Amino acid sequence: MRATTLHAPFDIRYTEVPDPEMTAPTDAIVKVTAACVCGSDLWNYRGENQINPGMTIGHECLGEVVAVGAAVKNVAIGDHVVVPFCHCDNTCPDCQAGVQSACRHGGFTLSGQGELSRVAQADGSLVKLDGVPDPALVPSLLALTDVMPTGWHAAVSAGVRPGSTVVVIGDGAVGLCGVLAASVMGAERVVAMSRHESRQRLATAFGATHIIAERGEDGIAAVQELTAGIGADAVLECVGTGQSMETAFQIARAGSTVGFVGAPHGVELPVRRMFVKNIGLAGGMAPVRRYLPELLDLVLEGRIDPGKVFDLTLPMDQVADAYAAMDERRAIKVALTPVG
Ligand SMILES: [Zn+2]
Ligand SMILES: [Zn+2]
Repeated sequence: MRATTLHAPFDIRYTEVPDPEMTAPTDAIVKVTAACVCGSDLWNYRGENQINPGMTIGHECLGEVVAVGAAVKNVAIGDHVVVPFCHCDNTCPDCQAGVQSACRHGGFTLSGQGELSRVAQADGSLVKLDGVPDPALVPSLLALTDVMPTGWHAAVSAGVRPGSTVVVIGDGAVGLCGVLAASVMGAERVVAMSRHESRQRLATAFGATHIIAERGEDGIAAVQELTAGIGADAVLECVGTGQSMETAFQIARAGSTVGFVGAPHGVELPVRRMFVKNIGLAGGMAPVRRYLPELLDLVLEGRIDPGKVFDLTLPMDQVADAYAAMDERRAIKVALTPVG
């Protein structure tokens, strides 16, 4: 098959690789019908995570099941499915605790930007769609594989409640989905920290009531002014850098919780401030499968449209352009369509 492979920093290609093979009777193989690039793929692309030359990349896709292992009962060949980026049996103690992303029998989508991808624990992982999805719904369904549940997880972890003031740090697709999540959960004020006009517009469309364009000390001061010096009731940290985490704890009110979903790179926690102000930290890798049924209903009912995060669509064999566009922040999120 052909798939997206990474060879060195900024060297990404659409090349011929071996087909994925089933390794357990609980596996399935899907033919990728829609895919996209994730902000977290950029950590690999930029060489900030270790690269094994030729490794496949891509963990967000929709697919059609083309093979199932002998133990798979809930999906069959021909089913159209949403593939969560992290797989799970949905039955083990970790899954039952709502942390499907830590499933002890899990795995990850590894060739989502290719023609075929293997899914471990197909019964627990895959969510079946009612036939071939309506093309108009595909972008929002694709957002359910990672970014929307991840933004949702930030809001759940931060304890967003009706009437609260929520600040979202990060204007990438996850941060924007965090804005949408906080809004759906009934937050009264949803503050998006963003200095890019197109992202500000989308944040507003997703329910942001305030935009703060300043960063660092000025951004912190702006939040303090907006909240009469109290700070935010809930902060969604959707970036994962030391600076974004520091800002999160500076703007979180005493007794609140920072919900973090940005993969941490170079983060140190201000434990003294956390102690003195009783500010907690919760979140982590999003248990996508936990939220999928609920979020799928919201999409099918037309109540959320997270697919708006896609502002560029390219054929899969132009994947190098897709990564460059996201790396240079020319695109918020790029959808990839199968070729051939
Ligand atoms: Zn992702
Ligand atoms: Zn499990």
